[in-house]
Amino acid sequence: MGRPLIVFLTGAGISTDSGIPDYRGPNGLWRRDPDAEKLVTFDYYMADPEIRRRSWRLRQETAALGARPNAAHQAIADLGRSGRAGVRVITQNTDGLHQEAGTPPNRVLELHGSSRAVVCTRCGDRTPMRDALDRVTGEPGEPDPPCRECGGILKAATVMFGESLDREVLSAAVAVAGEASLFFAVGSSLQVYPAAGLVEVAASGGARLVIVNAEPTHYDPLAAEVVREPIGTALPVLLDDLKVCDTE
Ligand code: ZN
Repeated sequence: MGRPLIVFLTGAGISTDSGIPDYRGPNGLWRRDPDAEKLVTFDYYMADPEIRRRSWRLRQETAALGARPNAAHQAIADLGRSGRAGVRVITQNTDGLHQEAGTPPNRVLELHGSSRAVVCTRCGDRTPMRDALDRVTGEPGEPDPPCRECGGILKAATVMFGESLDREVLSAAVAVAGEASLFFAVGSSLQVYPAAGLVEVAASGGARLVIVNAEPTHYDPLAAEVVREPIGTALPVLLDDLKVCDTE
């Protein structure tokens, strides 16, 4: 037998301790301001320059928060570095905080893309988000910066509503979930596709399932362990215990 494979499926809940709002959650921006959802809906975004200007402003405000990885991101990265198990991360988040914490980028599958990059909707040119935001706030500012290669509309390299998930990322996630010996679902309500399906794949592949989430999920009955404590404190303890078990 090879090393055990530990897979983490992470959602917005792991990043709220880093100050990144949970847009979909009960107090999320999209509940308070339904209009805000248009900012991340592909058709509205493409059709309306004002939506794009608002979207870039929101990106700028989010970037200005300077979110840093928290203890939970760090604990996952540390576990990977320990070399005791193979560690893979499948995330619904676009914030890049797993990678910033030290999990190698080739070990992170971003189901909803990355808000650290920008992609041209016409030619596909991919550039850093930082560069685009510098243009937005520059002097004179470009409130809706066009692609420098072709003049096309730029957008964050995230999967907007109305766009499909990346097939390659999705099939890699399914494969990884199926090979997991231990599967942690962290900070995700597990209500949306494909997160829910990945839990099923992992469970039917024989993984031990651990759910760390503030609210109950549909999959709690399948879990060997359900943890409701705050993720930033609970996950480091859970993963420390894992290291101890390994050495025994
Ligand atoms: Zn272009």
